[in-house]
Amino acid sequence: MADSNIIDGKAFAAKVRESVARRVKLLKEKHGLTPGLAVVLVGENPASEVYVRNKARQTVEVGLNSFKHELDENTSEKDLLALVARLNADPKVHGILVQLPLPKQIDSQKILDAIDPAKDVDGFHAMNAGKLWTGGKAMVPCTPLGCLMMLKDRLGDLSGKNAVVVGRSNIVGKPMAALLLNESCTVTIAHSRTKDLPGVCRGADILVAAVGRPEMIKGDWVKPGAAVIDVGINRVDLPDGKSRLVGDVEFASAAKVAGAITPVPGGVGPMTIACLLVNTLTAACRQAGIEEPADPGPA
Ligand code: NAP
Repeated sequence: MADSNIIDGKAFAAKVRESVARRVKLLKEKHGLTPGLAVVLVGENPASEVYVRNKARQTVEVGLNSFKHELDENTSEKDLLALVARLNADPKVHGILVQLPLPKQIDSQKILDAIDPAKDVDGFHAMNAGKLWTGGKAMVPCTPLGCLMMLKDRLGDLSGKNAVVVGRSNIVGKPMAALLLNESCTVTIAHSRTKDLPGVCRGADILVAAVGRPEMIKGDWVKPGAAVIDVGINRVDLPDGKSRLVGDVEFASAAKVAGAITPVPGGVGPMTIACLLVNTLTAACRQAGIEEPADPGPA
């Protein structure tokens, strides 16, 4: 039984990374295999640069190979497709991540569709989305995967629970709903056209907010004891000219009623990168046709 209703995503992500590191070590010892992750950054988006730097650092820290490709802002779609083709063919690369957003001359969907689904560690390829909904062995998008791991860690068996996912994007809302359905939850997907959203949310044993609207979901929308996962990352300006990050849930009021809740920052965010490392390990094992090693646990 956890002693706080706050789910510490930072601490949980650190544990996940330690587990990945132990399993990568085993893979190397037993099979001589070092999973490799290629991250592609096009242009100079400061937020993307920070993400890519963090991803590369954490990749190396857990013992994976990291391949970073930084391309000029004016890179053509053709050149980026050529790089993706090279990475698809490179046996040292088991996972490929193209950092979004891409410059406007490049059709993002075309690029994502060109990534080999087996190396699609973001899980955005239509093949992986289809597998997720049809019970196949999908690469699962990192953010919803991280949310599911935290929910299972906190609640154990999720079957029969009423889950409400607010947001229906391809990268968060829809895959989150699919994962919860696969866990035998009764799932409602809410969105901007949903009628009586507060009432719908109040029916949730598990409430996942992936909306992109600062503190939209209030404490009195939360069923007492519910588990609340806040995916939103919104920067809001403060009267003193500074700014701060808030989620899609009004944390102060929701934390008073929720049985478990993720803060922003320090909740879902750190788990997203940790799950990228998990996915790279999974992708490497599947490509090599070997079973993913079980975590031997801390020495
Ligand atoms: P998105 O593509 O903009 O989708 C937002 C969803 O919210 C849409 O389905 C939209 O409904 C729904 N929505 C918007 N306003 C609403 C309202 N008033 N009531 C009910 N539903 C409403 O966003 P996203 O990519 O899924 O991201 C959502 C949030 O998660 C953002 O804050 C983003 O920054 C954050 N995020 C965090 C991570 C992480 O690592 N922690 C990763 C990805 C995203 P319609 O479809 O009807 O328009």
